[in-house]
Amino acid sequence: MKSLCKLVKELLFPPRCAACGKLMHPSPSLAEHALCPACHKIWERELRTQCSTCFLEYCTCRCVPVGLKKQGIEQYVKLAPYGDEKNFTVTRRIVLGMKEHVKDRTLRLLAKELALTVQAAIAASERVRQKNGYKEPLETVVTYLPRGKRGVRRTGVDQARELARALSAETGYRFVPLLGRVRDGLPQKSLSRRERALNLRGAFERIADAGQYRVLLVDDVVTTGAGMSECARVLEAAEIIAVSVAFTEKKQIK
Ligand SMILES: [Zn+2]
Ligand SMILES: [Zn+2]
Repeated sequence: MKSLCKLVKELLFPPRCAACGKLMHPSPSLAEHALCPACHKIWERELRTQCSTCFLEYCTCRCVPVGLKKQGIEQYVKLAPYGDEKNFTVTRRIVLGMKEHVKDRTLRLLAKELALTVQAAIAASERVRQKNGYKEPLETVVTYLPRGKRGVRRTGVDQARELARALSAETGYRFVPLLGRVRDGLPQKSLSRRERALNLRGAFERIADAGQYRVLLVDDVVTTGAGMSECARVLEAAEIIAVSVAFTEKKQIK
């Protein structure tokens, strides 16, 4: 009955591919798909991109951008390269699409993929803790980098928040909003790396204590890492694992 309802809904509102926007054939088996077959094929290839620092595929690479490392972040989980204006990756299309419209099926696709890597990162962190004599595992919670008002105004939702909630649903780790946004700041796009860091200084505040948690700090895309490192500084969590869908690769530290 449920799948019949779903099919009727899909016939009335046929789903569109989250990357190319093409209408997809409605069918119960396709109901969970966020991407058309062509985009899905490219997306799978993008997921297997090799990191240029450690040469591992993104799903196993944990390289951390310099700015994040400075804030004590030991692991960074990402799915695929963000690309640029010339190299318009499927990942980039998905992320840009989410700024306009956040779809459940897209969130599920991303959360499923992120969950696998996140679990491995947490297991690795627990092994280190045990080696260092900690008996109890650290509680893991999921939080996100809040957008400024300007970013949320367009869709009415914060895509990083939705992504964090989807990751929480997928992994079973509690979703806890730990950060608030104090001010918007200038649009980051037009600024240099240094300007971005200054622009975001003081833009976030901690709204709950994070000292007892391993925090999965979620954002849709990390470019310079300025927002992520500012949030890590403010959070003062026991441990932070940075998590994003897309990543602009620059010099990293292993
Ligand atoms: Zn497509
Ligand atoms: Zn790497």
